[in-house]
Amino acid sequence: MKMSKVAIVGSGPAGLMAASQLAKNPAFEIHLFERRSGLGRKLLIAGSSGLNISHHLSDEDFAAHYEGWGKSYWENLFQSFGPKEWIGFIEKELGLETFLGTSDRYFVREMKASSLLKKWTDDLKSRGVVVHPEHELTDFETTHGQVLLSFNRESERWSFEKAAFFLGGGSWEEVQPPWVELFKRKGISFEEFSPSNVGYEIAWSHEFLKEAEGKPLKKVKMQSSRGQKLGELVVTSYGLEGTPVYFLGHVGTAYLDLKPDLTLAQIQKRLNDVTENFSPIRRVKQKLDLCEASLALLFHHTPPGIKNDLVLISERIKMFPIELLRPRPLLEAISSKGGVVLGGLSLDLELKAFPGIYCGGEMLDWDAPTGGFLIQACVSQGAYVATAIVKKVTQP
Ligand SMILES: Cc1cc2nc3c(=O)[nH]c(=O)nc-3n(C[C@H](O)[C@H](O)[C@H](O)COP(=O)(O)OP(=O)(O)OC[C@H]3O[C@@H](n4cnc5c(N)ncnc54)[C@H](O)[C@@H]3O)c2cc1C
Repeated sequence: MKMSKVAIVGSGPAGLMAASQLAKNPAFEIHLFERRSGLGRKLLIAGSSGLNISHHLSDEDFAAHYEGWGKSYWENLFQSFGPKEWIGFIEKELGLETFLGTSDRYFVREMKASSLLKKWTDDLKSRGVVVHPEHELTDFETTHGQVLLSFNRESERWSFEKAAFFLGGGSWEEVQPPWVELFKRKGISFEEFSPSNVGYEIAWSHEFLKEAEGKPLKKVKMQSSRGQKLGELVVTSYGLEGTPVYFLGHVGTAYLDLKPDLTLAQIQKRLNDVTENFSPIRRVKQKLDLCEASLALLFHHTPPGIKNDLVLISERIKMFPIELLRPRPLLEAISSKGGVVLGGLSLDLELKAFPGIYCGGEMLDWDAPTGGFLIQACVSQGAYVATAIVKKVTQP
């Protein structure tokens, strides 16, 4: 039987999943290329503090977390390969346990990505996938129904029936990944990368930092023009990190509710109920059970006219203004906005200008918050591209 030769370039979750799905079909000879010496570097980084692989939501609510194509695109993608299929793959095909955390996020039981990556790459090799580390894609073209690829190591070009690129985004990289210039040279529309899911800078006072740096603002609700989000923030020397600011960050004013489980009226009642002649700030300390960082914020970043007034300080607790000056750089971002412009791709994620070459994962111009939404979209697109390739090759 003549085998169809397919190249997968990029060994992040998107590329690995495409290879896994194609490897189930004995009609394919699969080559996986990676420019680094080790596979799945960003997956390992993502998993260094607990590998959050997906989120527990209905398909519709899940799809609502993505920017890029319309919601129906994402619904369709997750119906074809969604959280259920991804979790099932990890448990049944790789034999690793997963669990649903209290925040409705799915995790791999071992919390680290190293065993997931090891099992995944061993599985691919056992299915005959040929792995080529230290192979950086440097050029590509399509001619006479074939895809020709060049890599940094060999002067010869490789020929494939189909190729799929999963080259990743711009975050956590010292310099812009070289593939971006290659794509631009090829005339492929590209939206410049910018940081997403990233901390923001705030001009904290020296006194506040002395007390609060490195400490959490526990259970606060953040509100900005992008919506509202309950969670924990961490005070850093330059500003804030944490899920609420990753979801809602933008340059300008945002507001923190430092006591979301009480209404304004309940807060005022508690503060008024103190019989001793205490200052408003002392009453707050005694009655509201705020965390250390929230108290420091109130104390050091509240004008005296507000700090000494029971009504005004209560209002400030419910709506504490913070000025987000700028996002931290791409190097520190969890993910990136921008990438290959979606209009240059068919719905099957095939490059319109280079039929036979598919793209997916974070290299494309879509965005999502942290919480497992990023990895989920990457593996879903990897699986989707694999299905599209199988269909194209077997039913041309
Ligand atoms: C600190 C951090 C924490 C994160 N935490 C989470 C989380 O908890 N949950 C979540 O869902 N997501 C998280 N992410 C994001 C997640 O890791 C990425 O969205 C995901 O890895 C993207 O997958 P990908 O396959 O598209 O690209 P990548 O994983 O970036 O893989 C792309 C691969 O392509 C290779 N490559 C690039 N150019 C070439 C070339 N020219 N030739 C050959 N190979 C090439 C790269 O070396 C890389 O290995 C986190 C990211 C970071 C940085």
